[in-house]
Amino acid sequence: MDEKTINANIGGNKLGSNDNYALILDTVRRFGPIGRADIAKFTNLSGPRVTPLVRDLIRAGFLKEDEFGASKGGRPPILLRLVPDALFAIGVDIGAAKLRAAVVDLEAKIVTKIVKATNASEGKKATLGRTMNTILEVIEKSKVKTDKIKGIGIGLSGIVDHREGVCLFWPNVEGWKNIPLKKIIGQELGIEAVIDDSARAMTLAESWCGLAKNVENFIFVNVGIGVGSGVFIHGELYRGSGGTAGELGHMTVDENGPRCNCGNFGCLETLVSGPAIARRTREALEQGVVSLIEELVEGDLNKITSEIVVAAAKRGDKLAFNIMEKTGEYLGIGVANAINLFNPDLVIIGAGVSKAGRLLLDPVKRVVKARALQVASEKVDVKISILGDDAGVLGAAILVLKNIFTAGVSYVGRKSIPF
Ligand SMILES: [Zn+2]
Repeated sequence: MDEKTINANIGGNKLGSNDNYALILDTVRRFGPIGRADIAKFTNLSGPRVTPLVRDLIRAGFLKEDEFGASKGGRPPILLRLVPDALFAIGVDIGAAKLRAAVVDLEAKIVTKIVKATNASEGKKATLGRTMNTILEVIEKSKVKTDKIKGIGIGLSGIVDHREGVCLFWPNVEGWKNIPLKKIIGQELGIEAVIDDSARAMTLAESWCGLAKNVENFIFVNVGIGVGSGVFIHGELYRGSGGTAGELGHMTVDENGPRCNCGNFGCLETLVSGPAIARRTREALEQGVVSLIEELVEGDLNKITSEIVVAAAKRGDKLAFNIMEKTGEYLGIGVANAINLFNPDLVIIGAGVSKAGRLLLDPVKRVVKARALQVASEKVDVKISILGDDAGVLGAAILVLKNIFTAGVSYVGRKSIPF
């Protein structure tokens, strides 16, 4: 389904293919509640042009009149906002450990959510089956009618052909290669699906409902079992020629470092991911460093996780603190390089390891200040995501929702980058 068709058929109404409908909806999404005069200002449409378009969108059930805004002299303006239950999307986040599915409304708010263990070790068939069942379960639990569900967005941390909807490779599941997920879901569930890399999906979530709302240039870095990232340039997700732009996790940080899943040595991922934190801690303990961690895992060093290291650091354990400090420094090198390359306004760090908060953020900021070019580092903010574990499902749902708000022209009248 191409964007023109979607816009022509928003919610099955008879609006026709007018890009300005999408433009107005996107303006209300970004800046609402908002009055008609401000919509005209943001969209560069004339007031008389905005009025009938808004009327059509109200009739079609996408916009509603809300409270009065502040008066700028005359009559206070009536503000417009999206109708949250006009349409919904399903967001699915297939992680290495957790499988999450949510029904998300037009305002990108989660209506219903289900979280399960992915149990990826059970293999391809079982994981696919569990994903399908979880989608059906979350739809049923939400009580949303299927004709109001615009599509299913899937985010996963493998290598994905976004255009074809095929997962080319997912290292977490044995035999998970060249899976035409979009086709399978379309056939089995009769709902259109979109597939993307989970870090890219999370980046979209940050731009819609996270710290990067209305930020034009930012970088999202996902530090969990792996390290992914997404780059937002001029209000658009940048994908690069083959769709793999933003693989910050595979930037070489230590040429003599550990071997990475990708075959190289010393990639950022091998130094800062959850398993990397656990590995470095284990190595230190094996060398005889004394730490509270040994007690926390009851002497079984295989039980060490990054969560345990963070918990010990928060209790004042010296080894755990040093490990997190070093992790932040490595991450800071990656972030500083990305800042020099893209000169963003904001860098957001999300996913499991980001729950360490300032234990991670302080050393990252210190290294960024020391290593990134002064002009770029003075302006940039580095923050921990506020979306937590919901970023993945929100982003996956937004892969679907964004088509309703995109019409080939962005709100400032600039041609968007087709992808
Ligand atoms: Zn690598």
